[in-house]
Amino acid sequence: MYLEKYDLKGRVAVVTGGGQGIGAACARALGEAGAKVVVADMMTDRAEAVASDLKGKGIEAMALALDVTKSAEVDAGAKKVIDAYGRVDVLVNNAGVARSDVRAEDTTDDHWRFHMDVNVDGLFWCCRAFGRLMLEAGSGSIVNIGSMSGFIVNKPQPQSFYNASKAAVHHLTKSLAAEWGQRGVRVNAVAPTYIETPLTSFGMNESPDMYKVWLEMTPMGRVGQPDEIASVVLFLASDAASLMTGSIVLADGGYTCW
Ligand code: NDP
Repeated sequence: MYLEKYDLKGRVAVVTGGGQGIGAACARALGEAGAKVVVADMMTDRAEAVASDLKGKGIEAMALALDVTKSAEVDAGAKKVIDAYGRVDVLVNNAGVARSDVRAEDTTDDHWRFHMDVNVDGLFWCCRAFGRLMLEAGSGSIVNIGSMSGFIVNKPQPQSFYNASKAAVHHLTKSLAAEWGQRGVRVNAVAPTYIETPLTSFGMNESPDMYKVWLEMTPMGRVGQPDEIASVVLFLASDAASLMTGSIVLADGGYTCW
């Protein structure tokens, strides 16, 4: 009975920013659980490579060229998913950017807007477009990728624009959960610690001093891997989390304990 709750057979899952890193791991996790997976990314070649890898593993998948910052493109993308598969059950809002290590006083308008455009506006356009389809169907599960940076202020790199954008993701998650709670659509978020992906290579690979602080600040003494976030996403996406909505689930190696 319990394992069946994780079964996504017959369901359709969309993962934004699915071309690499955490998104690619989420696409695989949802696909392995039985979902048909739409790998949506701005970088079409990456989306196609991930979709083709999933197909090689016997998972039904398609690539979708999608820049989440363009609301018309997001609306058109939602229509393409319906045309291809007839439904959408799961949306993982994973596309996100972090050009960190920039002080607040040096943050340009463009730098601020770039982060808000992708991390907040883009995420909302996707919730709105795919959420409408889920509301019409009376069911669906949205999982937003937030960050521990929505709870704490990272050290040592300054990144106020990123931290603020992820705090907004968390509160948007709760707001949508409250609005849609009685209409069958659950909205939750995962808040990861540092995960080894291209996004964190500025610290892990290019700044040993910074990386040392990251590890010292983390009770588990290590960063995470994309699959360790994907398994939490799979749980929230599935019926195993049927009573959960508006939750921000930390997967942070204990970072926020100190
Ligand atoms: P990556 O940069 O490795 O992957 C993100 C993917 O999203 C890339 O393919 C990226 O393309 C794509 N993307 C960027 N902008 C857009 C857009 N406008 N529309 C569609 N796709 C886009 O990041 P991660 O896998 O590390 O991060 C995924 C999510 O997890 C993000 O929301 C991030 O903030 C969050 N997160 C990551 C943590 C980490 O330590 N890695 C920690 C906490 C949260 P491109 O490369 O061209 O930008």
